[in-house]
Amino acid sequence: MPPLLWATGAVHAGAALALVAAPAHWAWALAALAANHAALTAAGLWPRSTALGENWVRLPQAAAARHEVAITIDDGPDPDVTPKVLDLLDAAGARATFFCIAERAARHPDLVREIVRRGHDVQNHSNVHGHHFSLLGPRGFAREIGAAQSVLVQAAGTAPRFFRAPAGLRNPFLAPVLHRLGLTLASWTRRGFDTRERDPQRVLQRLTRGLAAGDILLLHDGHCARDAQGRPVVLTVLPALLAALQRAELVPVTLSSTLCADRSPTP
Ligand SMILES: [Zn+2]
Repeated sequence: MPPLLWATGAVHAGAALALVAAPAHWAWALAALAANHAALTAAGLWPRSTALGENWVRLPQAAAARHEVAITIDDGPDPDVTPKVLDLLDAAGARATFFCIAERAARHPDLVREIVRRGHDVQNHSNVHGHHFSLLGPRGFAREIGAAQSVLVQAAGTAPRFFRAPAGLRNPFLAPVLHRLGLTLASWTRRGFDTRERDPQRVLQRLTRGLAAGDILLLHDGHCARDAQGRPVVLTVLPALLAALQRAELVPVTLSSTLCADRSPTP
């Protein structure tokens, strides 16, 4: 259990004891509880925080040592954008990880199968990608993520091993649910904000600034912004990003391929 959650238990126990031992000081106990809840909320609003449990913000050390990086592509599958993204990845011989919204996967199972057929990962990005996801409790998380897991297993033929929260937002109840479902939370090292940034150059700059082995990069094939000509930003960014990775001698791999640390080195 991460230190912040131990501290939460201690603060609650301490506040209860203080109220029994010295009821007149109730205001101090209340202030301690409020400060603790503020810290929990802040951690949940910070997608790259590891204070609420395991959270991949980079690839494991062994993958970084092999000069690997991960391109992750969220919010699809999208019948207009995803096939073009797959072609761009194929052209560069690159592998990527698609965090799919299960409701969309159920509507386009053929696209999910195609993602897998071309050697990419399909991972869990919730069932409906609701705006109130981070306000759910244990049962709500279990329902939402479990339903997505069932849909994605059926469509992809293999069970997702990673989960990414919608917008990266969560609360302390998420980690135990992921643990029970055998899922690891994955966020990112860097994101391009390509759901609202319409300038592909700026998206590319955000993704490549400080680019290094082990990075996890975030793009979108669903909900993606479009440039001034109406073209999805990801379709302009992705080839340039793949070229930048090649120049830096970095190899884009799937998240699941990095789980097996003793994997024999690629020839
Ligand atoms: Zn998303």
